[in-house]
Amino acid sequence: MEPIKTPLKSICFFSTKNYDIKFFNAYNVSLPQDSQFSFTFLDDRLDERTAKMATNFDVVCIFVNDCCNSAILDILHTNKVRIIALRCAGFNNVDIKHANELGMKVVRVPAYSPYAVAEHAMGLLLALNRKTHKAYNRVKEENFDINGLIGFNLFKKTVGLVGTGKIGCCFASICKGFGMRILGYDPYPNKYFVEECGGKYVSLDEIWQESDIISLHVPLNAETKYLINGVNVDKMKDGVFIINTSRGALVNTKEVIQRLKNKKIGALAIDVYEQEENFFFKDLSEEVNTDDVLARLMTFHNVIITGHQAFFTKEALTAIAEVTLDNLSEICKSAQCKNEVK
Ligand code: NAD
Repeated sequence: MEPIKTPLKSICFFSTKNYDIKFFNAYNVSLPQDSQFSFTFLDDRLDERTAKMATNFDVVCIFVNDCCNSAILDILHTNKVRIIALRCAGFNNVDIKHANELGMKVVRVPAYSPYAVAEHAMGLLLALNRKTHKAYNRVKEENFDINGLIGFNLFKKTVGLVGTGKIGCCFASICKGFGMRILGYDPYPNKYFVEECGGKYVSLDEIWQESDIISLHVPLNAETKYLINGVNVDKMKDGVFIINTSRGALVNTKEVIQRLKNKKIGALAIDVYEQEENFFFKDLSEEVNTDDVLARLMTFHNVIITGHQAFFTKEALTAIAEVTLDNLSEICKSAQCKNEVK
């Protein structure tokens, strides 16, 4: 294994958007001159075809839909890249074991703004329940009829959270403010959820059976893939609302579509989609949608889809730029980083 060479100066960004450039440049220029980095921003998504574009860069900086499997890591490693800097929290798109075997470090931004994601999840729930998306369109057409827009009070309703980490606890605090009953399932329970958020830990089956609303706040891994599937949905209350702001593959979309068709699921909001890398973060308004599952999902009046924007606040973008560059500065100084994924 070759040691990480310092200083780490050149960073190749994949899947860059104009807001990345703005927030990363703003933080970089605020650093002392000898600690600043040099950036190359690529629009391209990291995949086997584009990996060679990072040749001779010290660091590759990637986002949620860049692919960093073992074959891509091999290409990057051969071409002298030593660090993968995720400008996001989730790391399901990186083969961590293989990166470690190659002696490459993987760093991430574990918590850029749990509030941003939790607030978006509540925004989705409120919009679904009070049918704000339909009301907006009606009023635009000067149709002020409120028939069909009836919702329910969130007060005293039961919300079930799968995952009570940073975002789950923020969401629970918001739900507490609405006077909701808060249930949680997490293999690693924490006191904060119970003592500060007013939550109660229960089994996963109790979450399914007792919740009026279910919100997912777990990482995607072998255990959580397709957590929302036909079998589990069939255990839920009729008309259950499901919110997914975590990762698309937590939901088996085809099985969920069946349960939307037979009205078992009352409403669904997703900020993430299993095949989102083909669609999200792009303007495809002049293309033909070739994904029949996504197309079917978009036909339901009781489904709201946002394109992975839950994190998208000024505060989160500021924190993403700061923590990503601080991670690299830390490695330059001590060859260690508290946000390294092993
Ligand atoms: P976190 O690590 O603070 O919390 C995750 C929690 O999930 C932990 O408490 C963990 O114990 C729990 N968990 C792990 N496996 C579980 C299982 N099988 N069942 C139930 N609980 C389980 O993470 P976080 O900051 O709260 O983020 C949660 C997820 O949100 C991330 O993994 C990421 O996928 C997603 N996310 C989405 C966006 C967005 O813009 N949509 C932004 C940031 C994060």
